[in-house]
Amino acid sequence: MPLRFVSPGHLPRVVWNREVPEVVVRVPEAWSPAQRLRVLEAWEAELVSETLESAVPEWEAKTGLTASGWTVKRLKSRWGSCRPDTGSLVFNARLVAFPRECLDYVVVHELAHLVEPSHNARFHALVEGWLPGSAHLRKRLRGGSPSPDGSGASPGSPSRPGEGMAP
Ligand SMILES: [Zn+2]
Repeated sequence: MPLRFVSPGHLPRVVWNREVPEVVVRVPEAWSPAQRLRVLEAWEAELVSETLESAVPEWEAKTGLTASGWTVKRLKSRWGSCRPDTGSLVFNARLVAFPRECLDYVVVHELAHLVEPSHNARFHALVEGWLPGSAHLRKRLRGGSPSPDGSGASPGSPSRPGEGMAP
C-alpha cells in the first residue's frame, strides 16, 4: 500500500481510508524520518491489537486455554512468544502485513505453548487439531521473515521453553 507523509501535521497521526489504497501519516514538519516511522509503527501495533482483541478470546474459547494477558511489540526474529510460567503472550506488530488467518495461526501456536512448551509432535498435533491447515499458514509466515515463535526451530528440533512461536 502506498505510504505518504504529510507535513506539517499538528498532532501526529495516521489517516487511513479503507476505500483508498493509501496510508497518510501526518507529522510535524521538523520530525525526523525515525520519528515519522515511530508513528507508523504505533499505528500498526494498534491495528494488530484490534484484531487480537477478538481473535484471542475466540481461540481461548475454542482451545479451552486461557492466556493471563497479551501484548503487541515490534519483534525482530519471531512472530510471537509465550511464557508458560506466567501464561502471557506477545505478538509481533509486523503481523499487520498478513491476513487474519495468519494471525489466527500465531494465536493458536502461542496458546498451545501454555500446555506444550516444545515444538514436538504433540505440539503440532494440538495446533493442527484446533486449526487444520496450520502447516500452510506457518509456511506463509515464514516467507515473511521472522519465524512464528522465532526460534526458527523445525519440528522435532529442540526448542527453548517459553519461546513463542517458532514453526
Ligand atoms: Zn513456538
